[in-house]
Amino acid sequence: MIYYICSTCGVQYEGANEPPENCIICSDERQYVPASGQKWTKLEDFQKGQYTNEIVEIEPNLYSIHTKPQVGIGQRAYLVCTPGGNILWDCITYLDEEIIKTINNLGGIQAIALSHPHYYSTIVEWAEVFDCSIYIHHADKEWVTRSSARYIFWEGENFELNPDLILINTGGHFDGSTVLHWKKGTQSNGSLLVGDTIFIVPDPGWVSFMYSHPNRIPLPAHEVRKIKQILQNYDFDSIYGAFESHIKYGGKEAVMKSADRYLYHLGR
Ligand SMILES: [Zn+2]
Ligand SMILES: [Zn+2]
Repeated sequence: MIYYICSTCGVQYEGANEPPENCIICSDERQYVPASGQKWTKLEDFQKGQYTNEIVEIEPNLYSIHTKPQVGIGQRAYLVCTPGGNILWDCITYLDEEIIKTINNLGGIQAIALSHPHYYSTIVEWAEVFDCSIYIHHADKEWVTRSSARYIFWEGENFELNPDLILINTGGHFDGSTVLHWKKGTQSNGSLLVGDTIFIVPDPGWVSFMYSHPNRIPLPAHEVRKIKQILQNYDFDSIYGAFESHIKYGGKEAVMKSADRYLYHLGR
């Protein structure tokens, strides 16, 4: 039995003797199957010393974790350490003894929470190793590629993981697209961890919103209005996005004015 992993997106599938016919994540118009065709790999293929997971403390109690050299689309996970427990926000495909030891020294992982399917990676492997649950919004249940009793499919607009951390379903990129609000982040001014539900653009202090990032498909106005309206209810200074991106200060203002700019350009 092999747990095949899509080489392009890094998402692991149900155990089987043969790889799946296609990857549902990459066949979707928000992602892509490369011109060279669908390829598969497995976790064992990575564990030969050529890959490492780098973990960096980017502000007190917040760590970013990513694999070198790049795996999948270069996903990055964050470990948020709070008095109520450590949460792994989003996930990465590669998992080895070293990162397990490092994370256990930081207190382990009490829950894994996902922004959207492009980060599903090897969530079940991580949840098994750290003996924790996996939180995914109910609206994205159809995108889960490997079954497990560890999933908690939460419903509604928000879900409190612990007194410091709230999952917020904004929709947009995916119906279940979720951001994580960390009340005590950034000197207690609040942080928002967004996956690519909100995309931090190169121009400092601005963000964007896309249905598909690689294929440049925009979101309709009503979806952007909804994201703005939902996030109006939360205070946050910093935003931690996909890959390396972050906004250090003025994050809420950046989201509000960027939503207005986006709507203006859609309408003109
Ligand atoms: Zn894929
Ligand atoms: Zn995405």
